[in-house]
Amino acid sequence: MLPPATLTGSVTTTELETPQFDPEAVAADLEGASAEDALAWAIEQFHPRLYIAASFQKTSSVTVHMASRINPGVRFFYLDTDVLFPETYGTKDRLEERYGITFHRYSSMTLEQQAGLYGDQLWARDPDACCGIRKVDPMRSALSAVDCWVSGIRRQDSLTRAKAPKFAWDKRFSLWKLNPLADWSEKDVWRYIHEHDIPYNPLHDQGYPSIGCTHCTRRPAAGEDARAGRWAGTTKTECGLHG
Ligand code: SF4
Repeated sequence: MLPPATLTGSVTTTELETPQFDPEAVAADLEGASAEDALAWAIEQFHPRLYIAASFQKTSSVTVHMASRINPGVRFFYLDTDVLFPETYGTKDRLEERYGITFHRYSSMTLEQQAGLYGDQLWARDPDACCGIRKVDPMRSALSAVDCWVSGIRRQDSLTRAKAPKFAWDKRFSLWKLNPLADWSEKDVWRYIHEHDIPYNPLHDQGYPSIGCTHCTRRPAAGEDARAGRWAGTTKTECGLHG
């Protein structure tokens, strides 16, 4: 666990803007902490007002296993865009069964409603709008009643994530955000998954290093960046959840 020197109390909603800890000192402590210690600190500090996001990609397998071992009562959620891969839904089911947990589901309007309002295949014409409706709006709902969320992003994922801190104020959603795996390598992730025999998304074994919605994910070609298969053919690189 982290030394308590920089941690002087628990956070309440009204204290979020002026927390009773030194954010910079805590962020510096967490930057040098292991993923387990960072997660344990956040759970101790914020639970039950802590929400762990699951995309059912490989890093979700790590955070689910790690967090469940620290506190079996931790809370998880996912964003169901209604166009996730069958393998992704299957991974969700296997993790729930293995750890005896439930991933809280957040979603938006139906695909039919979206087509009625914005036309067919919005993802092909305006993926930012589609992600806004199917991901960002449900994310706001998910995070509206918690003080900290946990993501599985890593600095190695992409250039846009290369400077992601382990702990910081998330201006986009107005709460704290922990990225406990920020400094993990691809090897670190797979070593952990195999060491603990954790269920993971089988699409990773079929050439998908990064997995999102069916309409906007393809296998990267040899030599391409790991996230090249996301929104391929567009300039879009993020869904709007990670600022
Ligand atoms: S990833 Fe594609 S289908 Fe999924 S919400 Fe974004 S634009 Fe829509």
